Parts: sequence; structure tokens; C-alpha cells
Amino acid sequence: MRARALVDLAALRANVRALRARAPRAQLMAVVKANAYGHGAVPCAKAARQAGAEWIGTALPQEALALRAAGDTGRMLCWLWTPGGPWREAVEAGIDVSVSGLWALEELCAAVRECGVPARVQLKIDTGLGRNGCTPGDWEKLVAAARDAEEAGLLKVTGVWSHFACADEPGHPSIRAQLDVFKDAVAYAERQGLAPEVRHIANSPATLTLPEAHFDLVRTGVAMYGISPSPEVGTPEELGLRPVMTLSASLASVKRVPGGHGISYGHAYTTPGETTLALVPLGYADGIPRSGSGTGPVMVGGKRYTVAGRVAMDQFVLDLGGDSAEAGDEAVLFGPGDRGEPTAEDWARATGTIAYEVVTRISSRVPRVYT
Ligand code: PLP
Repeated sequence: MRARALVDLAALRANVRALRARAPRAQLMAVVKANAYGHGAVPCAKAARQAGAEWIGTALPQEALALRAAGDTGRMLCWLWTPGGPWREAVEAGIDVSVSGLWALEELCAAVRECGVPARVQLKIDTGLGRNGCTPGDWEKLVAAARDAEEAGLLKVTGVWSHFACADEPGHPSIRAQLDVFKDAVAYAERQGLAPEVRHIANSPATLTLPEAHFDLVRTGVAMYGISPSPEVGTPEELGLRPVMTLSASLASVKRVPGGHGISYGHAYTTPGETTLALVPLGYADGIPRSGSGTGPVMVGGKRYTVAGRVAMDQFVLDLGGDSAEAGDEAVLFGPGDRGEPTAEDWARATGTIAYEVVTRISSRVPRVYT
């Protein structure tokens, strides 16, 4: 096999159990948007359910609908809607839908009138992330409209929720500020007669560092895949998490070249002397960042090397120096790290991004192999 992303579902299940233990009074939502951060939405959702996740969370309604079509019958929430979205399909599929504003509530109610199935709605408040969610200034109007729709039998408000901006920086002042706004928003909605089953704001870092933010439910993404949200929160090992994805490839060729040999486009690297080059058949079409040119770490034969020259669309080169290898030998780009291989965090540091992006961007050209 040219290359593979090995996905360790036993590790994912263990991570879900570890996260549940961190938030023992809350339900757990397994966040599997973006193809489960590149790990494969259907198998990961199934494994998370096996480990006790009560909820599945996705950004797009289409992602939630695909999981329903694949046979997941449990509670699900999807939150990133645009006008004309598949409200009716989501409602008929029994998926909880997030609503951040009046346009969305109006479209949802129209879909409910059409299909005759009441919706389950979670109202989202922007407590300070400045992204999706109703601003506190418009909260009264949204709550009133939702309550009217509930009284008309069109829907049930099942949740009130929000999302943190800086939970990966424990102690950041915005965390407290967002919590205060959230508590006020929940209290207001309840005073107006709404009775949400679940109130939630915690992502992985808040689940791991801030019990006060657990409320009724925690939404864990990155930590479930065994990746730390940030160095400040801790290493996966310190957090009791095990990285789920191992990305590796079979060397496509190994050859001796003389010194002064320019490597890959632009000759950004030139061999300093006679050496052995190994060709790794993965490139930016597979999701390997081009910014890993000259920086990305890769393990071959138990030893680490750095990408020599530029990452191309399908391949890059390692300079093995005096070491030997053969075509077909395994090159490990990242994994749990306990065999000495780099981790997704190492690639994030080497390429100026976050580990979330490193795993999520691995493209569909790389087959996922489940263990
Ligand atoms: N909740 C929402 C609304 C999100 O967008 C995300 C992901 O960004 C999560 C929860 C999960 O976050 P994390 O991967 O940090 O656990």
C-alpha cells in the first residue's frame, strides 16, 4: 500500500472514556465534523457511541444526515446552517438543529409546517467568540420567538449553548466573561418558560481544565482523537489520551546520489555530499503541508529525518545520509510517538499550524485503515 492513515478505534474509545471520567456529571457529545477531524466520521461516531457518547455533533447538517443514513439513530446536533439549508430533512431525521437567529427560526418553522414533525432546537448564544450565535443584544427576541413557536407546537427548545474562544489558554480572562454571559442567557431563557434539557459550552480544553464549564454536556473533538488542544493544557500523555491516527507510507525509491545534487522543485536543498535519498510518496495533495518543506519530521527505520527540499503534490524526499533503506520500507510521518515517531503536534510545530489542522487536512487520497 502506498500510504495509509491507521486509525486506532480502541484508542478513540479509551479517550472517550477518559473524557467522560473528566466530566462525570455531564453527557458527552462526540464531535465528528470534517470527517471526524480526518479520521473517518462513520467508524469514529460508532466507536464513540460504543464508549458511551450520548450525542454526536457535526458542523454541517449534511454531515449529520450522512451519519443517520449510515445507521446512527442516537441524539445528534448540527450547528452550521445557511439560508435554504436542509431543515426539513434534518427535522424528519430527528436531528437537533442549532438556531442562532430569527431567519433560521423562520426557515425551520416553515419546514416544520410542511412536514408536520416538530423540531428539536438548540438556541446558540454568542457569549464572546464573535462567530456564530445570537448576540446578547438580540437574545430576548430570539428567546421570545422560540417560545412562541414552542407554544404553537412547532418545536421544542432542547438546548441552550455557546462556544469558547480561548479555552485552550487556561486562565484567559475571556473564559470567565463568556461563562458569565452564558449563565445569564440560560437563566433568562428559563425565566421566559423555556426548559432546555442540555446547557453546554465546553469543548475539549474546557472539558479538561474547567469543571465549572461542564454544565449538562461537554462537546469533545480534538481530545477524543488523542490530541491535546494546546501545550498549555498538557501533553496527550499527561491528559491520559492516546493519539488515534498514525500516518505512514512505503518508500517509493531509495538511491545513492553524489554531493551537489539539487532536490525537488526549486532545488531548495542540495546534497552536501554523497548520500542516500528516500522518496516518500505523499505530498500536498494528500494533505501534507507544503510548509513542511525543509521542516517536517519523518521516521524511517527507527530514526528521524527532516523533509529535504520542497514537498510536491505527490511526493517528497528524505536525505538518509549514510543510512540505508529499501523501497517498501515504512516512513512514519506521525503517530502516538511511543515508537520514537513524530506526533501530529510535532508536525504542527514544524509547519506553523495546530495539530487540529494536521490531521484534518489528510485528504481522501490516503486510505483510512481501522484497527
Ligand atoms: N463545539 C463546536 C461548536 C465546535 O466548532 C468544535 C470544534 O471546533 C467543538 C465543539 C470541539 O472542539 P475541540 O475539538 O476543541 O474539542
